[in-house]
Amino acid sequence: MLATTWPRQRECVAFYGKPGTGHTLLDLPYPMRLAWDPHVTIRRITIHRKCADSARRVLECVRDHYGMEKLRDLGLDLFGGCYNNRPMRGGTALSMHAYACAIDFDPARNLLKWNHTKARLAKPDAVRFWELWEEEGWVSLGRCRDFDWMHVQAARL
Ligand SMILES: [Zn+2]
Repeated sequence: MLATTWPRQRECVAFYGKPGTGHTLLDLPYPMRLAWDPHVTIRRITIHRKCADSARRVLECVRDHYGMEKLRDLGLDLFGGCYNNRPMRGGTALSMHAYACAIDFDPARNLLKWNHTKARLAKPDAVRFWELWEEEGWVSLGRCRDFDWMHVQAARL
């Protein structure tokens, strides 16, 4: 059974509130690096408080399942962003990042338009990573739509 049922994308403003509200700091279960400046180690991220505990549980399981060496190899310590108040790429509806309920990993090896033939996180050794998110009800655009393999969100399509 899922721990939480997340809102559908179009219901996010009712569930999460206006962009920029409801934030908390999540202490990361393992250190991450900024994807755009990997010399910078980060130990906490800004995220919506309604999905913060769930994200922490998933990342604890990711750490325990893979260990630091393997998760670094997969790029699961490369933080590509969470809160970002912007529209969806190519659209006018708000991105799930505007609600701080989406996280990107290793964007350089999982470009937005890449499908499973090129994206690093579409490879078989990343399947458990996605299953751990899905066990908490999170949605992977890569797994559902075969693009944006960097992205996971606490909102249903
Ligand atoms: Zn994203």
